[in-house]
Amino acid sequence: MSNTTTQSALMSTYNRFPIKLVKGKGSYVWDENGKKYLDYTSGIATCNLGHVPDSVQVKLKEQIDLLWHCSNLYEIPNQENLAKILTENSCLDNVFFCNSGAEANEAAIKLAKKYAKDQGKPNRTEIVTFKHSFHGRTGTTMAATAQEKIHQGFTPLTSGFRYLPYNDFAALEAINNGNTTAVLLELVQGEGGVHPAYIDWVKQLESICKENDILLMLDEVQTGIGRTGTLFAYQQYGIEADVITLAKGLGSGVALGAMLAKEAVAYSFQPGTHGSTFGGNPLATSAGLATMETILQEDILANVVENSEWLLEELKRLKQAFGNIVDVRGLGFLIGIEMMDDVGTWISRFREKGILVLSAGAKTLRILPPLTTTKEELEYFMNVFQELLSDFKEDNV
Ligand SMILES: *Cc1c(COP(=O)(O)O)cnc(C)c1O
Repeated sequence: MSNTTTQSALMSTYNRFPIKLVKGKGSYVWDENGKKYLDYTSGIATCNLGHVPDSVQVKLKEQIDLLWHCSNLYEIPNQENLAKILTENSCLDNVFFCNSGAEANEAAIKLAKKYAKDQGKPNRTEIVTFKHSFHGRTGTTMAATAQEKIHQGFTPLTSGFRYLPYNDFAALEAINNGNTTAVLLELVQGEGGVHPAYIDWVKQLESICKENDILLMLDEVQTGIGRTGTLFAYQQYGIEADVITLAKGLGSGVALGAMLAKEAVAYSFQPGTHGSTFGGNPLATSAGLATMETILQEDILANVVENSEWLLEELKRLKQAFGNIVDVRGLGFLIGIEMMDDVGTWISRFREKGILVLSAGAKTLRILPPLTTTKEELEYFMNVFQELLSDFKEDNV
């Protein structure tokens, strides 16, 4: 067997950008040659406090010297404390810990099915999800994801999901067909192009769920942990959920996911119904605990609200001035900029200027600054964007 520099031992699941990142602090990462980048991807909405935040680093180092893992057969104080913080700061009562967003959604989907049976409604086996959603890459969460390109090649899909159009008022009537146990919804579709849900639409959806005893399950894997300016996005919609799933920002980059539920629903998970070897182990929950304490103690959410409003306004100003920008959308620091032309080219242009950004779909740039980013960093980003737009101005505008 040989391994050349062009041939990797890794599977080709990613088209990787040609830089090797070796260090990070705050809003910045460095590559192996010492080149510094402003990271406005935050590891895909994961490093919400920036890279290697001091408060989490200290707690992780302490925990490294104590205990990493012991299995969920024993009581884990960090896990108890993190669950307490999450439930005290949300409308949910109980928490199940896992390692990723897909696993959190898997847990929610299992819980919804079990809940229907426990309610004496065994015919209720269907879960409604929405077109252009993203719920994960496992067999079941891929089926929950209503995007054909993600299903391609992986049939037969797990059954039991019904897809409705997003932000479509008429489609709400189709939610309850007598067999529906739950709705699984992103309040801002992240991977699907950064589309926030309309407040009125979500409120109507909530009413329909309540009237028909259908569980409202919010996939806050990307929108949660302060990303949108409130701890959870649902808090800006004037609604309550029966279930919320979390992951990305919860552990500041240490793998940690969670599924939160109201007590009456959580009751359907009893010993033997669900579990995870690693889920919520002492090391991961020490990172989760420090992350949550930091977000709640310091004025981080206020920074998101204030600076994201400024950023959105500035981006809309650029849209007026440059024909390359089709639309600007978002909530808090989850921002989509739909471009006229290929988004991959824009990502490369930013990278050459030392700024990392993402895509969401074929035409949309996705900007995910750390929640701690400063006004100066945002101004730098805007100056570079304006320069790039001037250099590559659409000729026909
Ligand atoms: C990223 C994401 C997931 C999947 O999370 P993983 O940790 O990659 O399994 C699920 N739902 C949403 C909304 C996401 O953004």
